[in-house]
Amino acid sequence: MTEITAGDTRDLRVEGVTIHFGGVYALKDVSVRFAAGEISALIGPNGAGKSTMLNAICGIYGVDSGRVFYGERELTGRSPFQIARSGIARTFQNIVVSPGESTLDNLMVGRHSLMDSSLWRSALRLDRKEEARHLARVCELAAAVGLAPYLDEKAGSLSYGMLKRVEFARALCTEPTLVLLDEPVAGMHADESLEFASTIRSIATDLDLSVVVIDHDMPFVFDLASHVTVLNFGQVIATGVPEEVRQDPEVVTAYLGTTSERNGS
Ligand code: ADP
Ligand code: MG
Repeated sequence: MTEITAGDTRDLRVEGVTIHFGGVYALKDVSVRFAAGEISALIGPNGAGKSTMLNAICGIYGVDSGRVFYGERELTGRSPFQIARSGIARTFQNIVVSPGESTLDNLMVGRHSLMDSSLWRSALRLDRKEEARHLARVCELAAAVGLAPYLDEKAGSLSYGMLKRVEFARALCTEPTLVLLDEPVAGMHADESLEFASTIRSIATDLDLSVVVIDHDMPFVFDLASHVTVLNFGQVIATGVPEEVRQDPEVVTAYLGTTSERNGS
């Protein structure tokens, strides 16, 4: 495991990024740094630009201006595949699993991205040892995420909460150093989401992962994250430690006022 030092090479930096869709500015000159080894949260109202930021980092959306760096490596202009190979994995706001496939097969899809096609072909054809090694690692990660009992079950038969765990595990199967989670606990009960927070935290520690998480579940976000950035109308309105951010009057007005009503707190 590499040691993380001050000014570390694995910070994720979004610098002056603008993305617009016609007249709508999803991100307007946004700069934010997500520190290596930390669990950072990105919050804000619907339409604030949170998912767009993840899409910009992953290369799914090109930027209109600005740059994105992962450590020394510039991500701007690279393909999603190249960016995944830099150690960045993500989950999506909407569940993306193959319901007819087993949990294990869904996780192996994450694993395939580790191998280029020729390697994968030879793994399929000949290299049983290599295949067994990958399988063992996938099972180990699945167990860490609480999926061991469900590996042979069809993903379509799993509960919503378990499907969210499948997506997280599939991201881990690419052996990332940074995981971007887009609304991982949306729709979960409060106890389920806090349990998932503790799974994410222990895995992040064990695997020396950086995490950027988006969610509207404030107890989950404030329990999990050590750093919070708030977007509103495509701009950063606050960034800092959770205690600072949750008391920021602009954040309360733009966002937290409404979520605390929704969360009944
Ligand atoms: P959030 O994830 O914070 O809810 P998004 O990043 O999904 O917000 O969206 C920010 C804004 O950008 C919204 O106005 C949304 O409609 C717009 N937007 C996002 N993606 C697209 C797209 N592919 N085409 C057109 N508009 C988009
Ligand atoms: Mg979104």
